[in-house]
Amino acid sequence: MSPAPQSLRALKNEGMLEITWSDGTTYKLPFKLVRVECPCAVCIHEITGERMIRPESVPDDIFPTELGYSGNYALRVVWSDGHNSGIFTWERLHAICSHLQAVRIA
Ligand SMILES: [Zn+2]
Repeated sequence: MSPAPQSLRALKNEGMLEITWSDGTTYKLPFKLVRVECPCAVCIHEITGERMIRPESVPDDIFPTELGYSGNYALRVVWSDGHNSGIFTWERLHAICSHLQAVRIA
């Protein structure tokens, strides 16, 4: 079964995106990390897969101004830097939680 979030919220005071998955695990992902992991064609080269976004170009105080679901398979984020083309599938979001600097809290 592919992972799906049970709940998803932006903790603005902490600068974290908190995700609880259907298996009961909860992770907190720093906003900036999620922004840098944006998989859209502006941030990742469509053909080479090269990451074109530079982490140092993302403001440290970046935050999502809008979180929305794209169908039932992905998260759509509008960021405070105006970037709005990022769609994170549940698989990708789950991979970010599992492999990167996410904090597992439950
Ligand atoms: Zn992007």
